[in-house]
Amino acid sequence: MTNYKICPICESDCIYYYTIPQNKQSVKICWECDSMWLNQEKVGIENSLDYATYLTQQEISPTWGSELKNIYEFPVFLDDESLNN
Ligand SMILES: [Zn+2]
Repeated sequence: MTNYKICPICESDCIYYYTIPQNKQSVKICWECDSMWLNQEKVGIENSLDYATYLTQQEISPTWGSELKNIYEFPVFLDDESLNN
């Protein structure tokens, strides 16, 4: 088994660190279900954000095509979150 952090929402993919290019916000995101967490937040079910909703709130127009080119930065490991505590 890998020790990647698996998305608690869809439980089908790991979560990636990602910087939203339009506002340079560092987030953690699941590209399978588009759940998102701000980088300083712990990944949990109750505090998950929706990527598309977040972009709308920030008045960022989604540009899926260009974003997909640089999505796979690096995955979140289980150990990462314990280090933040
Ligand atoms: Zn997911």
